[in-house]
Amino acid sequence: MKKTFNLAVLPGDGIGPEVMREGYKILNILKKKCFINFNIHEYDIGGIAIDKFGSALPKSTLLGCERSNAILLGSVGGPKWKHFPDDEQPERGALLPLRKYFNLFANIRPSVLYSELKSLSPLRHTVIHSDINILCIRELTGGIYFGKSGRKYNKNNKKYAFDTEKYYESEIERIAHLAFRIANTRKKKIVSIDKANVLSSSKLWREVVDNVSKLYPHIEVSHLYIDNAVMQIIKNPSQFDIILCSNLFGDIISDECAAITGSIGMLASASLNEKNFGLYEPAGGSAPDIQGKNIANPIAQILSIALLLRYSMGLFELSDAIYESVKKTLKMGYRTFDIIDNQNDYITTSHMGDIISNTLIKEI
Ligand code: NAD
Repeated sequence: MKKTFNLAVLPGDGIGPEVMREGYKILNILKKKCFINFNIHEYDIGGIAIDKFGSALPKSTLLGCERSNAILLGSVGGPKWKHFPDDEQPERGALLPLRKYFNLFANIRPSVLYSELKSLSPLRHTVIHSDINILCIRELTGGIYFGKSGRKYNKNNKKYAFDTEKYYESEIERIAHLAFRIANTRKKKIVSIDKANVLSSSKLWREVVDNVSKLYPHIEVSHLYIDNAVMQIIKNPSQFDIILCSNLFGDIISDECAAITGSIGMLASASLNEKNFGLYEPAGGSAPDIQGKNIANPIAQILSIALLLRYSMGLFELSDAIYESVKKTLKMGYRTFDIIDNQNDYITTSHMGDIISNTLIKEI
């Protein structure tokens, strides 16, 4: 009998449960057709968990995740819980502690511009003539977001604020190793982003990436300053394969890459720890403006399952098959509301899930 893979499913709020329903269709196909022994348990997280248990991340959810090999998340948050104190709100109260608890130090975000959706990109056709497939690998648990920060008064009673960027060599090493290992499965090319002409933390970043690169001589590595990198991504995105960056720079760059692809509803992300335990989720939020209308794009949720297969289960071919099914579905002209162009009508969330599922069944 095949080994059981315990999966914690956390649909969350807003469109989370709607797109997760489509995710379940894919999981069921993988179970039935590929005999993957998923042992799935569903838990509450975010606003719905506040309503039921008084906490955005109840103990039962955390325990369930702990007993699992990976987490598949929908999204959390919404106007209903906006009046809660910052730390108790769905995002701050659930996602940050979850990332911290499982030490998810690496965030991986693929930005793929499908040829069928090129008209949605804000970039000119002459710039996006070739395929765009960028994998942004961002350090997630260190750097300026976790350094000392605060507000003070100097001796002349002038108010100031400060934030501190601090990186341990070991923190840079582990994300660099991960990037090199992933590069091995792609185009063997990494661009590392920093500001080494000014920042000490960036100087160490560059030094460590160079040192780690000596262990992977077949991977090409180059460095760009952040200011140049944001320009290069707009001018010629096809030149990039893997972009490796710190927490702060990754926050900015991953959104820039996302914008090039047209819709947030297409983007999935993975956050990993050192044991390949991962949290897989759409990059977007709970989209309260379209909640309950059956028009949300389920592709990001479906592709987060493709990332789960790749990064926590090592099932590369099945992961590629999901990407291929999405691509074929788009090629056939099916579009949800957010990716519609002049030539197509839009279909519902559930219809999109059905078409991708049927395509996947033929693909595997
Ligand atoms: P959002 O990502 O929810 O929505 C931004 C825009 O993108 C909206 O117009 C929305 O309709 C659209 N959109 C998002 N996902 C889509 C999809 N799958 N298909 C079609 N359109 C989609 O961001 P926001 O409006 O700033 O935040 C709404 C709530 O989500 C807030 O409470 C915020 O805190 C929360 N949030 C949660 C997460 C998360 O769970 N990881 C991430 C970001 C925001």
